[in-house]
Amino acid sequence: MLSDPIASRCLGRAAGRFQQVAFDAPASPLQMPVTDTAPVSNLPLDAGVVRILHTFARVTAWVTLAAGLFIVIGWQARMPDLAALYIGTQPVRLASGIAFALGGAALLAASSETPIAQRLRLPLGLVLLVLGTLSLIERLGVLDLGLQQWLLVGQAGTSGAAMPVVVSVYFVALGLHAATHCCLRESWINELLALVMLGTAMVALAAQGVSVAAGGETLLSPATSGAAALIFVNAIAWIAVRPASRLCAVVAAPGHGGYIARRLLLPAMLLPLAYSWILQWARGQLGLEDALLIAMSAFVTGASVAGLVWWVARLNGYLHHQRSRVAALDSIAHADALTGLSNRRAFDAVLAVRMQEWALHGRSFALLLIDADRFKAINDDFGHAAGDAVLHTMGQILRRCLRPHDHAARIGGEEFAVLLPDADLGAARLAGERIRSAFAAHPWPQRAITVSIGAAQACAQDSAAMLVARADRALYEAKRGGRDRIVLAAEPAAEGPSPDPEFAA
Ligand code: GH3
Ligand code: MG
Ligand code: MG
Repeated sequence: MLSDPIASRCLGRAAGRFQQVAFDAPASPLQMPVTDTAPVSNLPLDAGVVRILHTFARVTAWVTLAAGLFIVIGWQARMPDLAALYIGTQPVRLASGIAFALGGAALLAASSETPIAQRLRLPLGLVLLVLGTLSLIERLGVLDLGLQQWLLVGQAGTSGAAMPVVVSVYFVALGLHAATHCCLRESWINELLALVMLGTAMVALAAQGVSVAAGGETLLSPATSGAAALIFVNAIAWIAVRPASRLCAVVAAPGHGGYIARRLLLPAMLLPLAYSWILQWARGQLGLEDALLIAMSAFVTGASVAGLVWWVARLNGYLHHQRSRVAALDSIAHADALTGLSNRRAFDAVLAVRMQEWALHGRSFALLLIDADRFKAINDDFGHAAGDAVLHTMGQILRRCLRPHDHAARIGGEEFAVLLPDADLGAARLAGERIRSAFAAHPWPQRAITVSIGAAQACAQDSAAMLVARADRALYEAKRGGRDRIVLAAEPAAEGPSPDPEFAA
């Protein structure tokens, strides 16, 4: 019989791996720190990855805000060298500094859920849109808006107001994206703007390695390398701030798809940028001809695709290995080594699942507790090894007697439990009798082995503890009644002597 009741542990425990899937609710948005996790893409999200994306977005926002203010202070204090300190030798333009500061603030607002922050996205986006457009108009020479005098009052002789063209384009896209962040949240337009930002940032980085033909401003006129890197990281952060969007959901997805995407996307984005740098370097340093450069780039592109395929295969192999290990550990953790049946841990989990099914859907089930009669004598008379062999055979007999969806476990030394889904007491009696007679009829090598069985059916307001306790009491009755028999537990209200308690052999 059960020495310590299973029940007290059953429901308090997470239901484990067995049949748990059916009860896995999608991760609650409340557990996720990121504000914008509404399922635009309808893909589930990995809460851990979402948290990392959120942190990345906020850190990027603060760094961008600080960098922007640093540049503005450099210019206002008439120390363009201060702005140059942060990026390199060439000072970042004042308009870029202002835009970075505003862009950082907008990103902070986008990653916050407070009403004030939400309302700030629109005005910040509009200011960025205006600033980017004015800068673009001036740099492309469409109109002379006097930004130079306007922003750099009193700094005659310096030139550093309007942003480079590529940076202006980025901030125009960012302005529109930030301004429409709330109202067009689920629209492809907003996601397209995020893609434009990312594309522009990649152009800005690539332009570092590409010599721009002389003859005035073009879209490829390079920004300073630091500014280019900053807008690249910002473009990714704006995508990361909305993990549920179609652009980000694959990366934030749980499971193998998300795992591979997270390791593949950044190299895939950075490879073209690396090429432009390397080829430009080869052209400058080695003086290679264009035809050779084109051949080289074709070779490097092919090799990179092959490299990415290899990388995916490697990740896939690693995942497969991990999956096999988890499956092996899972079966070790939930199986009884001697009989191959489930162990107590697995039984607890399945019982909890059955109790939930019963509580939520009224799906009735019955429990059998089975205890070998006078088993100690087998050990005493024939040795522990013989006792083990008997237990092994008991597992086989039990398995043979059950339907595929019944669940048998060895829950103690010579104690077994069986869960019978969709069974009432009548069905439990039939199953129990089938088991009892199978044990009695088996040609045991040393001595006949019989079992006593207590059966109980889940009832209204039952807990796992109450159900197990009732079956345990019925088992005790079966022992007291002479063993080799099944006793049915009465319903809780009518507890006491059962109306038809005993079904003896
Ligand atoms: P009852 O009919 O009242 O159940 O008598 P019993 O002898 O079966 O009950 P008891 O609980 O006194 O003895 C159970 C025995 O089961 C004691 C222990 O030696 C034996 N046992 C428990 N686990 C194992 C095991 O893994 N292998 C072997 N060989 N014996 C075990
Ligand atoms: Mg026992
Ligand atoms: Mg026993």
